[in-house]
Amino acid sequence: LVRIAALRKSFGTLEVLGGIDLEVARGECLSIIGPSGSGKTTLLRCVNYLERPTSGEVRIDGKLIGRAEGERGRYLSDREMAASRAEIGFVFQRFNLFPHLSAIDNVALAPRRVRGLALAEARDLSAQMLRKVGLGHKLSEYPDRLSGGQQQRVAIARVLAMQPKLILFDEPTSALDPELVGEVLAVMRTLAEEGRTMMIVTHEVRFAGDVSDRVIFMDHGRIVEEGSPDTLLRRPSQERTRTFLKKIL
Ligand code: ATP
Repeated sequence: LVRIAALRKSFGTLEVLGGIDLEVARGECLSIIGPSGSGKTTLLRCVNYLERPTSGEVRIDGKLIGRAEGERGRYLSDREMAASRAEIGFVFQRFNLFPHLSAIDNVALAPRRVRGLALAEARDLSAQMLRKVGLGHKLSEYPDRLSGGQQQRVAIARVLAMQPKLILFDEPTSALDPELVGEVLAVMRTLAEEGRTMMIVTHEVRFAGDVSDRVIFMDHGRIVEEGSPDTLLRRPSQERTRTFLKKIL
């Protein structure tokens, strides 16, 4: 489903991604781990062109979803970009809910605006998605009356309501109090078990090992090693992976 080829990204003179080749199969749950500053978040942001790659390409379902900096020829129109973006869900570290909208209206917004659903239909769908993340009793609650974990689950429901082909999670639990992490991870686990295609940047290495089909370890903007959770987390072949895991496990 996802094909990333020779992806590079620099900010000024700082090279953050130094050539990433990676494929993610339909239905696969892939976790990305690595030290702070290794480029994990930037990689994820390049997948849906929140960040424009310096060079290289990202294809979803064979379709190029944007163009690299300075590349001409293969321009995508804003409309084409928006259409491919709509198929990719992004769950941020900070939940970014609209404070003036209730949970259900936060979830219903994009289906109405982007998919053109009627109000009743969008609210029906949103209620269904909120029930799925265990918030069927909080439909009309406003974000400031919800805990961080609940807000993040609303954010996940909002992504699900767009029926994305791919969901990107950028450290979805790192802004949460420890006791709220579990409820968000539980929802993510359910999604992985349903066979959704997911890419997760996370510091929760144990969780990554538990739910993922594959884990990649990044350092200095490159993929150092990838493999099944069992291999990568228990029997890594690279010294750098071993050192990193020793520090955090
Ligand atoms: P963490 O686990 O701490 O979130 P990460 O592996 O996700 O780290 P990135 O967030 O991708 O790492 O950042 C990689 C490097 O790129 C860092 O040195 C960061 O300061 C730099 N960087 C990221 N975004 C920008 C930007 N918009 N402008 C300049 N530098 C940036």
